[in-house]
Amino acid sequence: MTLIVEKFGGTSVGSVERINAVADHLIEKHQAGEQLVVVVSAMSGETNRLIKLAHEICAKPPAREMDVLVSTGEQVTIALLAMALQQRGTQARSYTGGQVSIKTDRVHSKARILGIDSAKILEDLALGRIVVVAGFQGIDDGGNITTLGRGGSDTTAVAVAAAINAAECRIYTDVDGIYTTDPRVVPEARRLKSITAEEMLELASLGAKVLQTRSVEFANKYRVPLRVLSSFEKGEGTLITYDDETNSMEAPLISGIAFQRDEAKLTIRGIPDHPGVAHTVLGPISESHINVDVILQNASEKGFTDLTFTVPRGDYEASLEILQRLVGELNAQDVKGDDKIAKISVVGVGMRSHSGVANTMFKTLADNDINIQMISTSEIKISVIIDESKLETAVQALHAAFGLDKESG
Ligand code: ASP
Ligand code: MG
Repeated sequence: MTLIVEKFGGTSVGSVERINAVADHLIEKHQAGEQLVVVVSAMSGETNRLIKLAHEICAKPPAREMDVLVSTGEQVTIALLAMALQQRGTQARSYTGGQVSIKTDRVHSKARILGIDSAKILEDLALGRIVVVAGFQGIDDGGNITTLGRGGSDTTAVAVAAAINAAECRIYTDVDGIYTTDPRVVPEARRLKSITAEEMLELASLGAKVLQTRSVEFANKYRVPLRVLSSFEKGEGTLITYDDETNSMEAPLISGIAFQRDEAKLTIRGIPDHPGVAHTVLGPISESHINVDVILQNASEKGFTDLTFTVPRGDYEASLEILQRLVGELNAQDVKGDDKIAKISVVGVGMRSHSGVANTMFKTLADNDINIQMISTSEIKISVIIDESKLETAVQALHAAFGLDKESG
C-alpha cells in the first residue's frame, strides 16, 4: 500500500457537486491501493465571508476569536466530504486540526506547526479508512484553536505528509501545475513537468501564488515529494523536486519568469558619505514596517553618494515622507521617486553551472528598447527593475529568448 496525502483547495470543494466529485476521485485511488489522508480547505469564498462577518461586529476582531471563527470553514468541508465517502460505502473519518494534534505556536492567524501526532491517523489508515483532516488549523499548548495564515491548508497537507512519511503529497487546485510564467501575459507559457523547491520558493515569493510559500519551505526542509495538479482535469501536474536530486548540468537554464507590477522606487541623492548612511536611511523605513526589496548604493564621488531602493507601491507615499524628513538631517541634496516601475526575475538552478544568463537577459531587453533601472542577482535569480509600461513586452521577449515556450526534458 502506498501512503498518499491529497489536498483540495476551496474551488475544488466549492459546492456539493464538487465535494461529490472529490469523493469519487478518492474512492478510485483508494480502490487502486492507495492509503489516503485528505486535507481540505473551506468551500470557496467561505473564509472571506467569515472574515467579513467578524468585521461587521468589530473593527479589530480579537485574534483568538477570529481563529475560532475562520477555522469553522474547514470543519464544514471535512464533515461533508466524510459523509460523501461514507454514502458511497467507503469508510472515512473527519478530524479537526486539534483532534489529530496539529500542535502550533500561539501566534493567532499565522501560527507555525510544531508537530503532529500521527498515531491516530495511522491507526485509521490501518483500519482501511480514508482520513479527512481540516486544513489551515491547529491547536496551541493551551488548547486554543490557531490558524496558519491564508492558504495555510497547503502547509497542513505538507506537514501531515512529513509526519506520516507519505510517498507523495498532491495539491489539487484550479490550475494544472506551475507555469513558466503567467499565461495571461504570455500565451505560450508552458506547464513545467518539474521544478526544484528552491526555484519554486523564488517564484512563489515573486507572485506565482499557487502554493503557500510556507508549505514549500516546509516541504523543502523535510524533503516531501510534492505535486501540484488540477482537480478539474486529468494530468501529471508539476512535481517539486530537491536540488540534490537534480543534475544542474542538465537542468534547463531558466525554469520560470516571475514579475511584480506594484513596485515603487526612491532615491535620496547627494548624501555626504560616511559609515552609517544606509542604516540612517533604511532604519526608519523598516521601523515603519515597510519592506525594502532591491537596494543600490552608488560608488561615492567626491565624498557624496546616492541610495536607491524599491518598496511596494502602497508604501510609496509613506517612504517618500520619511526620506524628505531625512534630507535635512543628513545634509543630502534631494529625493526623487518613481511609482510606475515593475520587477522581472528570471529564475533557474541551471544558472549555477552556466554563464551568460545575465548577458542574454540584458541583450534581450536592449534589443526591445527597454531601459534597465536597477539590477539585483542571487545564485539562481536575476532581477531587473524597469518601467511598468514595458512589463508585458519584456516578459514576452525574455520568455522567447530563453526558449521557455519550447518543450524541454
Ligand atoms: N481557507 C483558508 C483560506 O482561504 C485556508 C486555505 O484555503 O488554504 O485562506
Ligand atoms: Mg490555495
